[in-house]
Amino acid sequence: MATGRRGVATAVKDLHDGEPVWAQSTYSTIAVSALTTAQRCDVLVVGAGITGALTALHLAEAGYDVIVVDRREPGTGSTIASTAMIQFEIDEPLTGLEKKIGSAKAARVYRRSLQAVKDLKALIKQYELRADWVDRDTLYLAGTSMGHRALEQEARAREKIGLPSTYLDAAALKDTYGFDRTGAIISAGAAELDPIRTCIACLKAARDMGAKIYSPVSVTTSEQVGDDIRAATNDGPDIICRHLVMATGYEVSPAIPKGSFDIVSSWAIATQPIKPQRFWRDRCLVWEASDPYLYMRATADNRIVIGGEDADVAAPSRRTAAIPAKSRKLLEKAKELTGLDELECVYSWAGAFAENPKGLPVFRRLDHVKGGYAILGCGGNGITFSVIGAQIIRDWIGGKIDPDASLFRG
Ligand SMILES: Cc1cc2nc3c(=O)[nH]c(=O)nc-3n(C[C@H](O)[C@H](O)[C@H](O)COP(=O)(O)OP(=O)(O)OC[C@H]3O[C@@H](n4cnc5c(N)ncnc54)[C@H](O)[C@@H]3O)c2cc1C
Repeated sequence: MATGRRGVATAVKDLHDGEPVWAQSTYSTIAVSALTTAQRCDVLVVGAGITGALTALHLAEAGYDVIVVDRREPGTGSTIASTAMIQFEIDEPLTGLEKKIGSAKAARVYRRSLQAVKDLKALIKQYELRADWVDRDTLYLAGTSMGHRALEQEARAREKIGLPSTYLDAAALKDTYGFDRTGAIISAGAAELDPIRTCIACLKAARDMGAKIYSPVSVTTSEQVGDDIRAATNDGPDIICRHLVMATGYEVSPAIPKGSFDIVSSWAIATQPIKPQRFWRDRCLVWEASDPYLYMRATADNRIVIGGEDADVAAPSRRTAAIPAKSRKLLEKAKELTGLDELECVYSWAGAFAENPKGLPVFRRLDHVKGGYAILGCGGNGITFSVIGAQIIRDWIGGKIDPDASLFRG
């Protein structure tokens, strides 16, 4: 299916609103080129957010001639809005996922997710990427959707399949971390990073291996031409490629059936830097089993980033309008949880992501072009899933089938 050459160019709206704390990050830009002449490459990656950047890096490393295009400045879509807690724990608990897709498949998703965090750490080390990566534990607190009994059961299910999670009762939680909840799960194997820096560092590493980056370029349509794919761009030259990867975040490609994903908005704030001794133990990533949930992490400069209040809001204007009220609520909840009355809101922002009802991303081949792929619905745990998507798509392009690819077919 060709979607009509040079169709109406999509208006570029902001994928996030407000001012994310990462807007202050250094090493967060990359020189890009204007697309002035027709190009040819092995793989065209559409989207220079964290998903496209990781995909480009995996493909350049595998020896492909890669072009990355974005209609915005690289990394400034949902990526700059991310709170960037890097977890193997996905939003759907293991016990819930077992009910949805069966125990064996759920175990494979969780183990793959744990491996993806390790793989990302190894990639950052290998290429010495400026990512601000710090290993962290995560603390999953009992809340309104899972109380202490459900969390105890969840911890047992995780331990059974070898995941590094342990249940803490209310007393152990209070003694060790100072939080007042009926129970929690403490897990190893997580991390925090700076999302825009990581995205840009991946693009730079891909560029060092020959990848070219063009922006602003909007891919409007794609069609098969013999063994090649012709990607048309808004008012610019075409790009001819053997393979096409749509890594367009929640601006889902028109080639994908509508209604497969929910658009979820999430709000976040960052506080002023606080005294290092005021933090909870080990600065672990904190989140809660509630709907909507609250999540918190520290930054390298001693701020607390607090996120949550997720809602099925797709309209950017409603998302923006809600920033003041959502920010107040996040601050209140964080003060109540931590007892840190001195917290003030310095940065506040909102962003969106696409989520599949199963809580899993979708990596699939495009129907209308041979050699076309899409990474979709990475959701609130998106960065870990982007790593898995980049690996699966690299293998597909190389003619190999990743044994876990079938878990993420949608
Ligand atoms: C508030 C918030 C908190 C979050 N917290 C976490 C977290 O703690 N941990 C975690 O793992 N994940 C988190 N996420 C999710 C994570 O941020 C996303 O999954 C991730 O950033 C998505 O990256 P992406 O590259 O797929 O999308 P994007 O960053 O949106 O990049 C897609 C790019 O594609 C470009 N594009 C789209 N269509 C076209 C086209 N036709 N032509 C050219 N370019 C195009 C866009 O301009 C954009 O730059 C959070 C998200 C939000 C909003």
